Amino acid sequence: MESLETIAAEIRVCTACGLCESRMQAVPGSGPADARLVFVGEAPGAQEDAQGVPFVGRAGKLLDRLLADVGLDRAQVYIANGIKCRPPDNRPPRKGEIAACRPFLDRQLAVIQPRLVVTLGRFSLSQFCPGVRISDVHGRLQRVDGLAVYPVFHPAAAFRRVAWREALATDLARVPDILERF
Ligand code: SF4
Repeated sequence: MESLETIAAEIRVCTACGLCESRMQAVPGSGPADARLVFVGEAPGAQEDAQGVPFVGRAGKLLDRLLADVGLDRAQVYIANGIKCRPPDNRPPRKGEIAACRPFLDRQLAVIQPRLVVTLGRFSLSQFCPGVRISDVHGRLQRVDGLAVYPVFHPAAAFRRVAWREALATDLARVPDILERF
């Protein structure tokens, strides 16, 4: 069976879509291969692009704090993005980029085999549940091809609206209980 490091090495040199031309470096993901919990965001931002690590900017710090509040240690979870390279000016990823990058996430999930996948934001949710609105399903467990998927708002969105930040904190607070059920 392949390893996360094998996949990461491929991602770092990947040229399968045009984002390889504007990235500083690809951001494969971080965390242990035996993580029970995987968080999936959208795409790297400027700080992630510079450091090669997901969720290290402002949104990442909020995520760390919210995880700590509910007794979850970031070192014990795997964190990745659906798109591994930063889109210029943080524009939304395009269809072709999504299609080109998706196999990497699928392979990472196949190695980790997590009990629960927490999608951060509407883009990440759309990768697992196309056409479903995050405002309708956040905080509600979904079953997708045998995978348990739990949608929450993106930490970056939490800075834009207080209600989203409260919903994110409330939804994340339920994660330890959901994990215990599996
Ligand atoms: Fe490859 Fe994904 Fe980066 Fe595109 S975004 S170059 S598919 S790793």
